[in-house]
Amino acid sequence: MARAKLISGNWKMYKSVAETKAFLAAVTVRSAEFRGTELLIFPQAPLLPLLKDSGIAFGPQSVYWEEKGAFTGEISPVLARELGCTYALAGHSERRQFFGETNESAAKRALATHAFGMKSVFCLGEMLAERDAGRTFDVLKAQCAPLFAAAKSCPEGFSMAYEPVWAIGTGRTATAAQAQEAHAFLRGLVKGAWGADGAERVRLLYGGSVKPENAKELMSQADVDGVLVGGASLEPASFLAIAAASKGC
Ligand code: PEP
Repeated sequence: MARAKLISGNWKMYKSVAETKAFLAAVTVRSAEFRGTELLIFPQAPLLPLLKDSGIAFGPQSVYWEEKGAFTGEISPVLARELGCTYALAGHSERRQFFGETNESAAKRALATHAFGMKSVFCLGEMLAERDAGRTFDVLKAQCAPLFAAAKSCPEGFSMAYEPVWAIGTGRTATAAQAQEAHAFLRGLVKGAWGADGAERVRLLYGGSVKPENAKELMSQADVDGVLVGGASLEPASFLAIAAASKGC
């Protein structure tokens, strides 16, 4: 089964209104070149309305699992949907590292995203010390466990982003072989939990210092269905070059 490549950008806490408009002007003028590849941006929440009608899918960097309530600082999935979001990120390592996100809360956010009519990109990945200790697969398994416990089947349009923490923002990318090994392991986990159909449908993105120079090799791997890009998604030229690299992969 062919899975359409997903090229997603995590803008973290970058970009002003003017910078967002300039990015969109530069990218949308070339979007016809990328038919068959899905482009997706996760900007800061106040920028979300600017992406409406841009032809680029968009969503917040996190949503809460309740529709509304006394949850200061959180984003309602219903509001995100109302703003035209079709995706939300969940469990990014910076949320885990700096804001107390756990495997359990990340799973709740991801599943709420689907419950409220959007698609999630669920992030996971090991720290350097865990890789060095040979614990990568154990960590990935533990990170997925609450998700598999809470959902009986693979939600429609569900994606995972394998982002080894040691590769995020460091300029140190996992090799294509390391990415493929982790992705094959994840697809196997999905198969065990959600069956062969779920394993075929789930899109597995790689994230961690993806650049135009390494994107093609990464996306040529059998189990790499796209990328989640931080730094290189901020500039139209590099984001478009990464999207172009997906052609033929
Ligand atoms: C990220 O923020 O998810 C990420 C992968 O960042 P970078 O591409 O800058 O490593």
